[in-house]
Amino acid sequence: MATSNNALISVRQLTKEFRRGVVALDHCDLEVYRGEVVAIIGPSGSGKSTLLRSLNLLEQPTSGAIYFDGADLADKSVNIDLHRQKMGMVFQHFNLFPHKTVLQNITMAPVALKKKTPQEARQQAMTLLERIGLADKADEYPNMLSGGQKQRIAIVRSLAMEPEVLLFDEPTSALDPEMVGEVLDLMRSLAADGMTMVVVTHEMGFAREVASRVVFMADGRILEEGAPADLFDHPQDPRLKDFLSKVL
Ligand code: ADP
Ligand code: MG
Repeated sequence: MATSNNALISVRQLTKEFRRGVVALDHCDLEVYRGEVVAIIGPSGSGKSTLLRSLNLLEQPTSGAIYFDGADLADKSVNIDLHRQKMGMVFQHFNLFPHKTVLQNITMAPVALKKKTPQEARQQAMTLLERIGLADKADEYPNMLSGGQKQRIAIVRSLAMEPEVLLFDEPTSALDPEMVGEVLDLMRSLAADGMTMVVVTHEMGFAREVASRVVFMADGRILEEGAPADLFDHPQDPRLKDFLSKVL
């Protein structure tokens, strides 16, 4: 079944109940269009990570539907591995392979899954590393890098798979404050290139400046969404007003 709109991602009435009574997502509707940066904000435990992980089917919905490029992900004919390749995921804790060099971290998946030749993958990886100014780290291991460097490498590792969308779950939350800027700068430059991104974040400045749309969640529900200026300067929902009064 196809959806009627041309959203890249379309979430319909998505509900996730981990156990009876533990409702992490409660009938959420969300569209993500190509080239958009959607920031998801909200208090801890509001369901932001569960929503993001559901897009990738890292969480199995209890009910509701997710369409990607018009295809229903619950459809048995959808190849979930191929689907996951179209969505890069960047986590709080980088998840680089510790026993692989930076270069190997970036080239592994493109060679294994996209059937790139090692030379092609290497060349692409070096171009990406040059973009972030870390070409000289290609042969080092992750433990030699700072948190900000690790996260930027995790981001370009996702990019090497040429995904259609990047999903970020609090990509700067585990970083020392002085390293947050370099990661946000990279994300900002990807947004400027037109990369479609969904970003769970506590960085309200980033959300205001870079997001095309901000989504506010509380108690597993999407309570408000809109352009950053509207949402931050003219919040309507009392929960959003309360949240902003604590974080801004
Ligand atoms: P957020 O990312 O906004 O902090 P989460 O999506 O992680 O929120 O969690 C939403 C709710 O779902 C919370 O009540 C959390 O305790 C619960 N939850 C999340 N993951 C699991 C899990 N694997 N098992 C049981 N409950 C979970
Ligand atoms: Mg979370």
